[in-house]
Amino acid sequence: MLYVTFFLAGKMSPIENSVKTTKTTTRQKICILGSTGSIGVSTLDVISRHPDKFSVECLTAYSKVDEILKQCQQFKPKSVVMVNQDAATQLMAKLVLANLEEIEVSSGEQALVDAAQAEAIDTVMAAIVGFAGLMPTLAAIKASKKVLLANKEALVTSGQIFIDALKNSNAQLLPIDSEHNAIFQCLPHTEQQRLGFCQLSDAGVSKILLTGSGGPFRTLPVNELENVSPEQACAHPNWDMGRKISVDSATMMNKGLEFIEAKWLFNLQPDDIKIVLHPQSTIHSMVQYRDGSVIAQMGDPDMRTPIAHALAFPQRIDSGVAPLDFFNTTAFEFESVDFVKYPNLKLAIDACYLGQAACTALNAANEIAVAAFLDKQIKFTEIAKINETSMNKFVSEKVISIDDVVNLDKQVRNFASSLITDSQ
Ligand code: NAD
Ligand code: MG
Repeated sequence: MLYVTFFLAGKMSPIENSVKTTKTTTRQKICILGSTGSIGVSTLDVISRHPDKFSVECLTAYSKVDEILKQCQQFKPKSVVMVNQDAATQLMAKLVLANLEEIEVSSGEQALVDAAQAEAIDTVMAAIVGFAGLMPTLAAIKASKKVLLANKEALVTSGQIFIDALKNSNAQLLPIDSEHNAIFQCLPHTEQQRLGFCQLSDAGVSKILLTGSGGPFRTLPVNELENVSPEQACAHPNWDMGRKISVDSATMMNKGLEFIEAKWLFNLQPDDIKIVLHPQSTIHSMVQYRDGSVIAQMGDPDMRTPIAHALAFPQRIDSGVAPLDFFNTTAFEFESVDFVKYPNLKLAIDACYLGQAACTALNAANEIAVAAFLDKQIKFTEIAKINETSMNKFVSEKVISIDDVVNLDKQVRNFASSLITDSQ
């Protein structure tokens, strides 16, 4: 594994108190994993509104040099990780020209893990896309950080292993995914205090209602899905997101990954979760209670709301999101899901019943298939075929340790890639 560190000047700041001992007057010291992405940029936007509350200590990205340079100029972090080594070298040169040579730059996957568990950090925003986020996110949990979880693939692919790491640490986990953040907000305080080990039936909950917009193809006839383009798939009607999650929203694999994510975050059985299509995305999810009450969390579809909520929890801070304008809001619609149109969602729900190997395999195949679709190597409708064939092949694998997860992910990627090559 590649790991190169470039010390340009200066040293790390003195070791600071961890989140467990942070006084309210101390600024939260933040590391953003994936700072150049959609969630990363929204996180920095919220942080920029509260310089008295948060300080950006570390930024990480894969290779976008100019974007991260601008972020360095604005937020002056102590360190940056560029996973790609060439990008790290380029960034160093640009930081010197910008008189920011005191910022420490490192590269490689181990550097991401080191950044996530560094003693100087209180809070880690886990916003890398895909399986690449698993190891640094787990490292942050094991190092007892406050972890803001956007990277759903980390939890989906490691499940019980992730939750056990949470149990064995003093980490505080808070959900960023808008649906899970909404559910969290609709739960009583007792359950918010034990994310990962909730006992929702004790709290009177009868169902978790996970809402989804249905994506850009909700009204498109099924027989026209075959020829949709990556640009059409990425044009989400309500949310502005990275390209991988945008395609996942169009196939509704995103809702499937969220189904599995909800199972682990709220300690549920798959039967406890129901998916409700809500095209307007104004309600971000709901909790149904035994007495007939349904509590919903609402707002404009803007990720700065859940980000601000989790950053400041249990306080409330300004996020930059305008209040919901009820008098200019269209009627709320609700529909059930058509699994013929969204076979990936059905696969993910099946995986949730089948167990960890199915979930890990489905995620790996989906990452390969979505990348191939974005690269115009396969059709939109082939994503589900590759996912199904891969999941079925690996469903009986043993997944107990994190090494098992990593090995299975690698095997499935190779297999799914071979399916794509064979179909060319
Ligand atoms: P994005 O593609 O916009 O950004 C991804 C970030 O991860 C970038 O900073 C990129 O440099 C980094 N990255 C990519 N590959 C990497 C690798 N191999 N190693 C290290 N870093 C890498 O993605 P996004 O839309 O911001 O989504 C990030 C995560 O948050 C995903 O797991 C997604 O499911 C989740 N999420 C996103 C939204 C949203 O509105 N965008 C909403 C809910 C959940
Ligand atoms: Mg979501």
